[in-house]
Amino acid sequence: MSASNTPTRTVKCPTCGQTVAWRPESAWRPFCSQRCRQIDLGAWASESYRIPAAMPPEPGEDLGDD
Ligand SMILES: [Zn+2]
Repeated sequence: MSASNTPTRTVKCPTCGQTVAWRPESAWRPFCSQRCRQIDLGAWASESYRIPAAMPPEPGEDLGDD
């Protein structure tokens, strides 16, 4: 196992598909930039956390709880 000739590993940015070098310097890997990372996280969050609007309890009807 010779690790003397290790090619730079690259990944594709999940957001824009740009090739990103998988190195410690690539702070936003696997994304190419902070912007792409936030775009992806935002899309994920908006899809996964999209819950049907929970009906807020009516302040006037919640008094007789006992
Ligand atoms: Zn990107």
